[in-house]
Amino acid sequence: MKALVLEKYKHLAYKDVPDPEPAPDEVIVQVKACGICGSDIHGYDGSTGRRIPQLIMGHEASGVIAKTGSDVRGWKAGDRVTFDSTVYQLNDWFTLRGLYNLSDNREIMGASPGTYCRNGAFAEYIAIPRHILYRLPENVTFKQAAMVEPAAVALHAINILAFIHKNQ
Ligand SMILES: [Zn+2]
Repeated sequence: MKALVLEKYKHLAYKDVPDPEPAPDEVIVQVKACGICGSDIHGYDGSTGRRIPQLIMGHEASGVIAKTGSDVRGWKAGDRVTFDSTVYQLNDWFTLRGLYNLSDNREIMGASPGTYCRNGAFAEYIAIPRHILYRLPENVTFKQAAMVEPAAVALHAINILAFIHKNQ
């Protein structure tokens, strides 16, 4: 497939890379729209250290399921989807309290801070764990869906503040 690869800081190459294959609990999404976030820009120039090359960036996107992993039920090729930018653990302390953005060992799609490297959606296809998928309502366009994340980030910030406040 074609992808936009951060080959070194401030240098994106549009090139052929291997197609992603789904793990048993993942689906492959054909990307239809992808937003660019402030965190991508500061990752691209190296100022955050959270986008270490080689990496395919892009964590707010939408598209259509192309393929499903062997354990995935309830999703099928052709489903219109978007996804959370955070790959969180399903059963840790934070997730069980609804604070999955603080989940231990969480990973961000399209990020590589040194402890992991998870390719993102500046590509034709992306592998997504099924538990971060959201079905796209008929009346929401792919472009609208790719813009959801900044609003979600703001909401999470409010939730986290409320949580910290309550537990002080
Ligand atoms: Zn973002």
